[in-house]
Amino acid sequence: MIQLEWDRRIRRANELTSSYPFAAEGLRYYSRVATFQRSLYADIQQALADSPAGEFTGSLRDELDLFLLLPNFSRYLSLIEQIAPAPLAQAAAGLARKGTPGWQHAIEDFWHGDLETALAVGGMDEEWEGAAGGAKAREQLLAWIFLQPYAEYLADQCENTIVDGAPSTCPLCGGKPMVGVLRSEGDGAKKSLICMLCAHEWGFRRIYCPACGEEREPQMAFYSAPEIAHVRVDVCDTCHTYLKSIDLTKTGLAVPVVDELATIPLDLWAREHGYEKLQINLLGT
Ligand SMILES: [Zn+2]
Ligand SMILES: [Zn+2]
Repeated sequence: MIQLEWDRRIRRANELTSSYPFAAEGLRYYSRVATFQRSLYADIQQALADSPAGEFTGSLRDELDLFLLLPNFSRYLSLIEQIAPAPLAQAAAGLARKGTPGWQHAIEDFWHGDLETALAVGGMDEEWEGAAGGAKAREQLLAWIFLQPYAEYLADQCENTIVDGAPSTCPLCGGKPMVGVLRSEGDGAKKSLICMLCAHEWGFRRIYCPACGEEREPQMAFYSAPEIAHVRVDVCDTCHTYLKSIDLTKTGLAVPVVDELATIPLDLWAREHGYEKLQINLLGT
């Protein structure tokens, strides 16, 4: 059933390729990545179909089925080598040469690592080129994209999660929010956040900074552009962090994780105004 979610993302990426030509290249790449992720998700679903549904008392990241995941890693790296922008393609080729021990290390390092500091802003920027940090960031990016379907599968197994309060990181896996969502509720809209790793969506406060906890209204603002009216940039003037939110009350056709990727001009605007993104997306933006 959840396969439909991957189909929606791929379809939306293909639609936006023509309406947002400035993002066409990234969206075509994303569409191929998501097609791989859909097939990996299906393989995981099939392999784990007979396993009892996960009961996560701690974090979803207490689980890690390397026996299931590792055999898929080599075809994943080959795909990335073929379709990714040059720096990431080279990182995939480098990681491919390391063989199984290196792949296992990259996967475990990311999965068990600190998601607060992984994939730091600027991971794909030129300033990282050649630096040791750049290689590390790209390996993290590779592991992240590969592990998303697995994390999402685990999250889909524990749908009825009861969460206390409105945490700033994912209640299932501890991942940072990748994008905010506004859905209509009564006369207004309610806000939620979507996790960068397991895609779980959890309720959040309208005026609250997920990076620093700021809740004073004058410090929190949002901006949007008339051409992309359904996406806004939520900024915090205390810690100078931003996160985009997709307003589904303005268009029900949007698929938040895809519309986030496609709206590059908003990222440029935010950076020009001195804001840093809370969480880079899988295009490294
Ligand atoms: Zn999560
Ligand atoms: Zn803040």
